[in-house]
Amino acid sequence: MKAQLDTEAVTGRGPEVGIGGVLVLGGTSEARELAAGLVERDVPVVSSLAGRVSRPRLPAGEVRIGGFGGPDGLSAWLVEREIAAVVDATHPFAQRISASAASACARAGVPLLRLERPGWSERPEDRWHWVDALDHAAEMIPRLGRRVFLTTGRQGLEAFAHVDEAWFLIRCVDPPEGPLLARHELLLDRGPYTLAGERELIDRHEIEVLVTKDSGGEHTVAKLDAARERGLPVIVVRRPERLAGVQTVASVERALAWVADALPRGAAAASPSGAGVPR
Ligand code: NAP
Repeated sequence: MKAQLDTEAVTGRGPEVGIGGVLVLGGTSEARELAAGLVERDVPVVSSLAGRVSRPRLPAGEVRIGGFGGPDGLSAWLVEREIAAVVDATHPFAQRISASAASACARAGVPLLRLERPGWSERPEDRWHWVDALDHAAEMIPRLGRRVFLTTGRQGLEAFAHVDEAWFLIRCVDPPEGPLLARHELLLDRGPYTLAGERELIDRHEIEVLVTKDSGGEHTVAKLDAARERGLPVIVVRRPERLAGVQTVASVERALAWVADALPRGAAAASPSGAGVPR
């Protein structure tokens, strides 16, 4: 219930999405684009955000904020709101909500699509080192450099706490909770970032190694281009395994087409503008 109250306080948006709407699990630019596309087509949509960021960029349409209380809570919510389809457009590293969505949708009998942007690809002059987890990234740092640009987000920073020999430029959207690394500077910022801006940061802080998750997408890719230009090593944390059995698409267009098929007949075509959803 708290989540619903928070939502109203944050968004002050129109009437709740009723029978046959789409739930978009968000927190990414693709989720916002999808919500905008559905609103444009008069498809009823409610977007859900975890509530981690203090001033989130809000998607078009109805927005709710806060967890559902695990798969049980989400499944009950889907039934209560008579949701017809769910698109999990959360970040590739947000594992728990994706697992929760798969379980809840199976239980509630609601079709689920995963919308996941492609990962980044290494180019000829890149010096990337792939690792499976933040701990492994931390282990690798002393071999690669002492001045580290750490862009893995504010969660999981404790993995780097024992890397005493390094200094960290930590960039994240909101301040991390809990103790910070012994030697660091905190930079609160959010993308999209420019190549010129990333070059300037790398040069000013005399960065020797960049650490990133394989988040993919355009908004934060400039740091990789800047690292390539400067010949810097980059530690790239691999994405977690995809959930088996969940249909996945890589573009908002494909997700819009899936929604058109998944919705009860007539729902997507109800647009007075006749825009409909592409197939
Ligand atoms: P997570 O570990 O998968 O989720 C933890 C819990 O937060 C979930 O069990 C769920 O609570 C709640 N939650 C997460 N996403 C939600 C959503 N869209 N709507 C409602 N509840 C949500 O996720 P995380 O890694 O903490 O990421 C949180 C959010 O930030 C995600 O929505 C993700 O898209 C966004 N994000 C994450 C990253 C990243 O690197 N992890 C980067 C950029 C953006 P209940 O179990 O109570 O439902």
